[in-house]
Amino acid sequence: MEKRLCIFCDEKKTQNDFNKEHIIPDALGNESLIIDCVCKDCNSLLGSRIDVHLTDSFYLIGKRAKLNLKGKSGKVPYILTNATGMKTVENNRGVSLKYNKRKEQYDIRVHPKVIAEEDGRIRIIASTADEIINIANTRKIRKKGKGLSDKERLALIEEIEKNKKTNEKKENREGVAINIKLEYDLRKIELAFLKIAYELLYFISISSGDIINTEKLRNEETINKIREVLYLEMIGNEDAKDENYDNYWEVSIKTDRDMEEFINKDNVTRFEKEIEQILGNNNWHFINILNINKQKEILIIIRLLNIVTSIIVIKSIEIADGIPFSIPLIVDSTSKRCISLQADIITKLIPNLVVSKKRN
Ligand SMILES: [Zn+2]
Repeated sequence: MEKRLCIFCDEKKTQNDFNKEHIIPDALGNESLIIDCVCKDCNSLLGSRIDVHLTDSFYLIGKRAKLNLKGKSGKVPYILTNATGMKTVENNRGVSLKYNKRKEQYDIRVHPKVIAEEDGRIRIIASTADEIINIANTRKIRKKGKGLSDKERLALIEEIEKNKKTNEKKENREGVAINIKLEYDLRKIELAFLKIAYELLYFISISSGDIINTEKLRNEETINKIREVLYLEMIGNEDAKDENYDNYWEVSIKTDRDMEEFINKDNVTRFEKEIEQILGNNNWHFINILNINKQKEILIIIRLLNIVTSIIVIKSIEIADGIPFSIPLIVDSTSKRCISLQADIITKLIPNLVVSKKRN
């Protein structure tokens, strides 16, 4: 059987060893911007070691929950469960945040806590009587093989009522503060954006035939360095030192506030309105691959869910000559479809983006 190369492990594999790789992770709502030159092994590692840092990042997780965009587990993510130290100050109880679709707000859930006392008894701290009864019941099943008897249940309810009165008074006096500490690794989020950029170049190369020769792309030194860094990250090797790659690429992440320096806000609003009219929503990803100078550089703009933007400059790349001025794409996270936009629509709507980018 004919073998071909995987663009990450660089190994020759048979057709059956490959599957569909989502350039923008499917957890962000993408079913059509895909490539088929990534082997199954690499695909699964990319998801768990690289994509996840972006899809579950504080930039995007809130909007994912709001848009019901499910992850690999098939579940809509809890927001901030990855945040460390997200606990109530009083009693040190764990906290999670979940989007409440019906009320259109984020609900805070304070988890119950079980404390083992020295005399062998346990103390249960919870927000509702049902939670306490459930915990007591489950513990008894685990220990004795059967749950609480009616008599035990009644005794427990009585005790809860009694404690409630004293605790309520206490809580009103002291209040409950929630302590949140957010930790994230910006480098890992940047690598996830770099992965998208790397795959986009292969996507353009494969889908548009002659624009970029795939073989030439593969042989570019810069492209090989990107592959190397992503591969090392994927297999959990921490040897890659970022300073060695400064001459090959730059990745920066921009919030909307940062972007205001670059672009004319009115033009962007106009552009967003126009796209919103086409798609009927405002939850799309925007990509533009730009060749705006003659210095063998390619600029890739990736804006995800209309929230966070990354600007990636890929340097000293010979094939840049063959790339058109602008290749804009939109992926609609609702229909999960990809739409290619005419370059002149983009330049008309956001001319400043193209002109002012370079001087950074
Ligand atoms: Zn592979």
